[in-house]
Amino acid sequence: PASEYDYDVLVIGAGPGGYVAAIRAAQLGMKVACVEKRKTLGGTCLNVGCIPSKALLYASEQYEAARHQFEKLGVVVKNVSVDLKKMQEHKQSVVEANVNGIEFLFKKNKVTRIEGEATIVAAGKVSVNGQEISARSIIIATGSETAGLPGIEIDEKQVVSSTGALALSEIPRHMVVIGGGVIGVELGSVWKRLGARVTVVEYFDRLVPGFDQEISSTLARLLIKQGFELKLSHKVSKIDKMNGQLKIAIEAAQGGNQETLEADVVLMAVGRRPVTAGLGLDKIGVELDERGRIKTDAQFQTNIPGIYAIGDVIAGPMLAHKAEEDGVAAIEFIAGKKPHVDYNLVPGVVYTEPEVAMVGKTEEVLKKENVAYTVGKFPFSANGRARAMGKTDGFVKILADKHTNRILGVHMIGPNCSEMIAEAVLAMAFGASAEDIALTCHAHPTLSEAVKEAALATQNQAIHM
Ligand code: FAD
Repeated sequence: PASEYDYDVLVIGAGPGGYVAAIRAAQLGMKVACVEKRKTLGGTCLNVGCIPSKALLYASEQYEAARHQFEKLGVVVKNVSVDLKKMQEHKQSVVEANVNGIEFLFKKNKVTRIEGEATIVAAGKVSVNGQEISARSIIIATGSETAGLPGIEIDEKQVVSSTGALALSEIPRHMVVIGGGVIGVELGSVWKRLGARVTVVEYFDRLVPGFDQEISSTLARLLIKQGFELKLSHKVSKIDKMNGQLKIAIEAAQGGNQETLEADVVLMAVGRRPVTAGLGLDKIGVELDERGRIKTDAQFQTNIPGIYAIGDVIAGPMLAHKAEEDGVAAIEFIAGKKPHVDYNLVPGVVYTEPEVAMVGKTEEVLKKENVAYTVGKFPFSANGRARAMGKTDGFVKILADKHTNRILGVHMIGPNCSEMIAEAVLAMAFGASAEDIALTCHAHPTLSEAVKEAALATQNQAIHM
């Protein structure tokens, strides 16, 4: 009987993992509450992550286009300038609309919202604001936070995390970005477009590690063309503050070559770490892995029965849509259904200009796994729509099994790739061969024809190349 507990499910954290889990639980008829310590719902993603970053990326992209691309299209605009305050207001209104949207969805679905910080007392028992609440199942969806570097303090004014970088009230003269991952290149792009000099220091020899090598080297080349300065294979050893300026000592990753950069803002973007402190996990014995993430089984249950974990706080790609998939699946397991989440089919996107998107395996991984594959590639410079838009940089690359032509990975860099990757994900989810895409009629003239042509190219049958 439900009366034994206050709730069937209690979710800790209202990010994309937690709020989606709560709504799905309500849909399935469970009595559900969601505890969130922030004043607003939506977690990192809606408040200080995906949504505000895309608002600033879009606005800054329009500015960049007005300054450098409109003229080529015969559109004359004079005296283009930035009103940063207004741009920040736009960002804030987008965030507000989104977080209020979740509040509306909670009400609509009768999810009880509890404001406060939750601690788990025991299986089935959570304490919030000194009050004990019982629930048959507890879902930990506490997400992640910015990871730092030892000896470097983040003050959110000059040395900022992504949160501070989204809220700057002045355009920096020189921003040094530590870490050339997705967040580093996206937020670096915002400030570069708005006029800052931007230098990215990355420990590895490439940007966006994890993406296909050919894509990341193309991205690096295009960012350099936009004026980015890249210090690949370098690490930051220390940062000193002098008369309001930051002096950033960097050296070659393998030691040797040292230099000092001067900047007014440093963005720390070396990665994110799971949020588990304060939850009381050690007391009740919930196991963590070697990277501090909560260990779960294939049904998202921790080693303590009745306690589940999803999203950034467990293993797998730290992405909002992955957290959502986890959230739905965890609830469906609890409800006795048989959901399935395939982490190999979680798309990854970098919202730079041009955009980067991928799904499945990279060439490097296929080589390591000794898989025989063919490559089909098609450049946007041969696509009519891309030419019409004046956005011909980049290409689509499809990796297919050499014997069966089954799609193993799709990698793209170019205009609107964040939207175009959905076709590839869908195809792979259905176990399609590249030929299945090639045999599918694509509207002309669209950018997505480049996907069809790349699919044809896996069997050397591209028409327009
Ligand atoms: P979170 O969104 O981190 O939510 C966890 C919530 O739990 C937080 O609101 C926190 O306050 C709350 N909480 C923590 N502890 C407690 C407690 N004890 N009691 C109560 N509440 C608690 N991902 C994408 O897919 N696409 C993007 O474009 C993208 N852009 C990003 C840009 C930036 C700048 C950043 C920082 C991240 C970005 N991400 C993006 C990553 C994305 O934000 C995360 O993967 C996603 O938010 C993870 O969801 P989650 O539900 O696991 O956790």
